[in-house]
Amino acid sequence: MTGCAEAHLPVTPHPSPNFGPRRKGVRPDIIVLHYTAMATPEAALERLCDACAEVSAHYLICERGRVWRMVEEEMRAWHAGAGQWGDVRDVNSRSIGIELANTGTHPFSAPQMAALERLMAGIMQRWRIAPARVIAHSDMAPARKSDPGPRFDWRGLARAGLSVWPEGAAPGRVSEADFLRDAEQFGYSLREGVKADDIQRAFRLRFRPHATGPLGPEDCAMIADLARRFPVDRDRATA
Ligand SMILES: [Zn+2]
Repeated sequence: MTGCAEAHLPVTPHPSPNFGPRRKGVRPDIIVLHYTAMATPEAALERLCDACAEVSAHYLICERGRVWRMVEEEMRAWHAGAGQWGDVRDVNSRSIGIELANTGTHPFSAPQMAALERLMAGIMQRWRIAPARVIAHSDMAPARKSDPGPRFDWRGLARAGLSVWPEGAAPGRVSEADFLRDAEQFGYSLREGVKADDIQRAFRLRFRPHATGPLGPEDCAMIADLARRFPVDRDRATA
């Protein structure tokens, strides 16, 4: 993580009215990544700054790597909605939300990923956010959301020290009960109408985007490794 790299990252202020204070004065310790699922970054910027839409994020990054800041990091943006990660249910109060301009049907460009990495390195240094607490919107809302989707390079992000990736554990036996126990240990939550299939889908979107079919030994080995090395932090005050 190199905070100095971010010093040269140009960020354009484009304030959104859609924010409030972080509840109970908590500090952000999660980063949630999204895609906009809109045709152009300008359309996304307009919507994220429209008071009637009641949505926002802290940052938006376009395909060419331009970064807009819509909400100050100290404030609570409205990007996460209903969901949970570990014990955290008010994810907006505990997170910084980053939107990537992408329709959801094409790859993320190299300039966009480079800008994201520089931006994230700075955020993680400023707020002391651990790589294991960088998550997909689909991770915290597995029954509702698919972003940033199967084309997002989570492995590359982990290689840059900005997220986590399972190591090559030997595929073992397939047990849905073990898979779900490990998934919860890593941070996924089965509460509020989330089903086992939703967790499996969200897990694969991020870690095995090309996998199909029923739960397999690779799924179980990967989530077991993540659970063992990166158990979700449950010690902090829940917001
Ligand atoms: Zn999202």
